[in-house]
Amino acid sequence: MHNFNSGPSILPREVFQQASEAILDYNNSGLSILEIGHRTPAFEAILHEAQSLVKELMQLDEAKKVLLLHGGASTQFFQVPMNLLNENATAAYLDCGTWGTKAIKEAKLFGHVDVVASSKDRNYSYIPKGYPIPGDAAYFHYTTNNTIEGTQMHAVPETNVPLVADMSSDILSAAMDFNRFALIYAGAQKNIGAAGVNLVVLDESVLGKVQRPLPSMMDYREHIKNGSMLNTPPVFAIFVCMLTLRWLKSKGGIAGIETLNRKKAALVYDTLDAISLFHTPVAKEDRSLMNVVFRVDDPALEKEFQQICRENNMYGFTGHRSVGGFRLSLYNALPYESVVAITDLMSAFAKKKG
Ligand SMILES: *Cc1c(COP(=O)(O)O)cnc(C)c1O
Repeated sequence: MHNFNSGPSILPREVFQQASEAILDYNNSGLSILEIGHRTPAFEAILHEAQSLVKELMQLDEAKKVLLLHGGASTQFFQVPMNLLNENATAAYLDCGTWGTKAIKEAKLFGHVDVVASSKDRNYSYIPKGYPIPGDAAYFHYTTNNTIEGTQMHAVPETNVPLVADMSSDILSAAMDFNRFALIYAGAQKNIGAAGVNLVVLDESVLGKVQRPLPSMMDYREHIKNGSMLNTPPVFAIFVCMLTLRWLKSKGGIAGIETLNRKKAALVYDTLDAISLFHTPVAKEDRSLMNVVFRVDDPALEKEFQQICRENNMYGFTGHRSVGGFRLSLYNALPYESVVAITDLMSAFAKKKG
């Protein structure tokens, strides 16, 4: 199978292999990874390795805190403003897709939100540029890669206010100065591992400024104080995440995977650009390297090509239910061969249809 699913998504074969073995017998201990205590040396070693691999791969400053939390990226939509935004203060948000819209809705529960720019006017098919970010904003929030709409921000915005980013669908896929962000979050199920855990990288200096009382499980300071073990962490999801990070390191880290990711995206976009039957609504300069969206104008032909994909062992290639069409997710673990296989089908289909 060629798995283009948008999330949960493909992981390296060797990660599946190692995770399976650990379910039956972790490290020749006679016990499954699923039945050992989380406060054991064995699990603590897994957690610490995952955290230090994140630091190493992202080249983070020593002071950055790395947390692995429950609740997915959607919990961060409200946990961020709960911890960072006072009731009378304002946070700046960029509205450039479905996920960003959800983050804005949640932030409004805690304080004022200034939507500094939006690409809603053209169905989120581009990334707004040249907008001002008020200097007194508590923080500026944006989504680095719009998983559903297929756009990606290719530069970090210039601003003096703390930067907060949802990197769920492009984290660890390309080099970036991660140290410029006050807070980064990402659900694991796209580029880091299995569903059930959420990576949060943050600066302690932005915490402790809100007046509202925080439930312990929602308070980043409590998680930091307890070394990301405030309660039972998602043990298995963290283990899979650690294995995936090890795999990424063995592939030359972010620099190594970025080269491959660029090659995969170039092949798909070059194929799309060469065939008039297919078209992508996304502005050229904002095209995502991770999620490629496109359509076939004639609905009958669209159905026909979907059928051809199915017959040729392609999986997870349809667009999000809100937008339709096609979406190919090219996450880190997707092999180049899968991209060759589907682009060959696209070219052959176009030739057949003249
Ligand atoms: C998938 C996704 C989410 C939602 O993640 P959950 O873990 O399901 O909450 C949020 N933001 C982006 C950019 C995503 O791609």
